[in-house]
Amino acid sequence: MIHDTRIKVLSDAPVREGAFVLYWMQASQRAHLNHALEFAARQADALKVPLVVGFGLHAGYPEANARHFAFMLQGLQETAAALRERGIAFIVREAPPDEAALQLAPQACTVVCDRGYLRHQKQWRERVAREAGCRVVQVETDVVVPVEVASDHEEYAARTIRPKLHQHLDDYLVDLGERGPERDSLSLKLDSADVIDWQAALARLDVDRSVAPVSDYMGGTSEAERLMHEFVIERLAQYDERRNEPADNWVSQMSPYLHFGQISPVYVASEVLGHEGEEAYLEELIVRRELAMNLCEYNPRYDSTEALPDWAFKTLADHARDERPYVYTAQQLERAETHDPYWNAAQTEMVLTGKMHNYMRMYWGKKIVEWTRDPTDAHSLMAWLNNKYELDGRDPVSWTNFAWIFGKHDRPWKERPVFGKIRWMSAEGLERKFEIERYVAKVQQRQAAG
Ligand SMILES: Cc1cc2nc3c(=O)[nH]c(=O)nc-3n(C[C@H](O)[C@H](O)[C@H](O)COP(=O)(O)OP(=O)(O)OC[C@H]3O[C@@H](n4cnc5c(N)ncnc54)[C@H](O)[C@@H]3O)c2cc1C
Repeated sequence: MIHDTRIKVLSDAPVREGAFVLYWMQASQRAHLNHALEFAARQADALKVPLVVGFGLHAGYPEANARHFAFMLQGLQETAAALRERGIAFIVREAPPDEAALQLAPQACTVVCDRGYLRHQKQWRERVAREAGCRVVQVETDVVVPVEVASDHEEYAARTIRPKLHQHLDDYLVDLGERGPERDSLSLKLDSADVIDWQAALARLDVDRSVAPVSDYMGGTSEAERLMHEFVIERLAQYDERRNEPADNWVSQMSPYLHFGQISPVYVASEVLGHEGEEAYLEELIVRRELAMNLCEYNPRYDSTEALPDWAFKTLADHARDERPYVYTAQQLERAETHDPYWNAAQTEMVLTGKMHNYMRMYWGKKIVEWTRDPTDAHSLMAWLNNKYELDGRDPVSWTNFAWIFGKHDRPWKERPVFGKIRWMSAEGLERKFEIERYVAKVQQRQAAG
């Protein structure tokens, strides 16, 4: 079932005669539980034409490097095969996403797209809506509760959005019912780049190769489903009590798959329903994650310190001249050359594996604030390192968590140097609460393994 509230008409130009319905895939790179894909399939059947899925493979994608492209191409390889099985042509153009959509749009009766929450994603959709010359409809499929249904304004904190999301869960955690399309598009003559071999596709692309692909995580819907299944069986019941222990990694590993739209949050949420641990997990997957979409949708300054609440801004300004205990350059931080073995381990984990443990991300971010002369520089540094190395970086959740480090969605705490009233974290806290030396040893082992 596709709720009307997931659907938004971006251009009300008429549906016209054409060879196919185009689903311009951008954010939701999957063939399973994709509301935009299913909506497009139903449109195609209603118009008695085939469905084509178009994708723009853009070597210059904002902040993307070989690590991100490898993971994405692994997923696209599988998506292409799954679409082919349903008789749907997957046409890949080596072009910016909006450009690829506009190359295919002239032959389409209508264009369907998925939704993105970041500035550049919105701008691509606006351009396609303006220039496609036919009806363009957006279908939101990467959240459980559509952003405008949850709230019509920027929410203050998790506690303010939580009840608004919860009241809709039964309505939106529903099966989609995948069917059709009735007509095959595989025989249409449309030029496409080949993504059936992800390594060959990556070798062909002129991408930033300064950050290498990782072997720790493999992209794709079936790998995401396998990991999720394993998590539900082996770790979900103890998720609440063990997820913060950095040495254990007692988490689901879903964030890279969610970032690339390789897995549906509706699927992930449905997997945990009825199991012990459900509540703690849905708090992260739905409340925390969809609070991030809320921020990016309603606050145009989501990616700067200007998104911070007034109290946080003021307290940081009050402490701007405080002596920093250590100050490191971007290069020292990138190479994990600080005095702090815990921070260095976290940075190393991210550089080597493409995914730092959640609890260490908080500590990592707080220390960047402590060791940088200015909060604006700290924000930029954090974003640069996170988005360069994390597989799940460059996401609404990334920007929202950078803001959290500086007090967003949090409350004032006891005043202290540098941080003012913003929550602080200490190495002693890590030592008290966790087996932090075991975490350091684990990262060192991974480093030794190469
Ligand atoms: C400084 C900092 C930077 C971060 N950068 C990113 C990032 O670039 N991309 C990213 O996806 N997450 C980021 N996070 C949030 C969080 O650390 C990751 O989502 C989490 O570690 C992902 O691992 P998992 O999927 O195994 O998590 P699980 O614990 O299994 O959680 C399941 C899902 O819940 C959601 N979730 C979990 N924690 C959070 C959170 N704090 N905020 C919002 N949603 C959450 C994610 O979608 C996650 O996949 C950052 C946190 C901090 C403090």
